[in-house]
Amino acid sequence: MSNSLKIENLHASVEDTEILKGLSLEIPKGEVHAIMGPNGSGKSTLSKVIAGHEDYAVSGGTVHMDGEDLLALEIDERSRAGFFLAFQYPHEIPGVSNANFLRAARQARLPKGEEIDAVAFYKEMYAKMDELGMDRKFTARSVNDGFSGGEKKRNEILQMMMLDPKYAILDETDSGLDIDALKIVAQGVNSMRSPERGFLVITHYQRLLDYIVPDVVHVMHDGKIVKTGGKDLALELEEKGYDWVTEELAVA
Ligand code: ADP
Ligand code: MG
Repeated sequence: MSNSLKIENLHASVEDTEILKGLSLEIPKGEVHAIMGPNGSGKSTLSKVIAGHEDYAVSGGTVHMDGEDLLALEIDERSRAGFFLAFQYPHEIPGVSNANFLRAARQARLPKGEEIDAVAFYKEMYAKMDELGMDRKFTARSVNDGFSGGEKKRNEILQMMMLDPKYAILDETDSGLDIDALKIVAQGVNSMRSPERGFLVITHYQRLLDYIVPDVVHVMHDGKIVKTGGKDLALELEEKGYDWVTEELAVA
């Protein structure tokens, strides 16, 4: 059984338009991969299809997490199996406090009949909030409700830290963050890097990858991975722009 998040020849559409057109990608456990690509290339679609978003229909291909068929699982089962997605546009959940949301998510991961240790839970949550520079008042506020763009992104990282996933996708977590917040978020991610976890970091800009240094960089265009390289590929893209890759494709 392979220790990776493995996507093979994935095809998916939204409202009868095919967005993912045979995408393949493998993230071995322990590695951080980045996907860069122009807006509209399907990066968020890829992350939502893997998470199990109901708006997207998979018409071909497979996704395996440590050998398990992820597409066969319901959205909550994927999460409990160890998959996490930090959304580009995090959802607001009015009426549910951040603390209760995280507590329920953690409780759902315990074996039947086992009760969460509330004292230990709060202690852990506060320590992680401190690490992310989040004020305690965010525990009592409704999930993402009225949060600024940057506060939502930090909250996504808090959720990731509390859920301790095996594989995490961060979809443009850098957007809406100023440089100080970006560094704090990157530190949070880097503190979770481990041989037991894989990351896919989606970003439009190279800047984030100065702080979360990837093992592998992929370029996505029109629903497919069109180029793969080392971390220097991100610098090359920053310098030459995405047109460089798409022009190369037109020639090939
Ligand atoms: P990226 O994240 O790379 O900017 P997206 O995955 O958000 O790209 O979008 C890829 C394409 O799919 C775009 O043309 C977008 O308009 C379309 N798309 C994505 N989600 C939806 C949706 N829910 N309804 C209609 N079109 C969508
Ligand atoms: Mg996107």
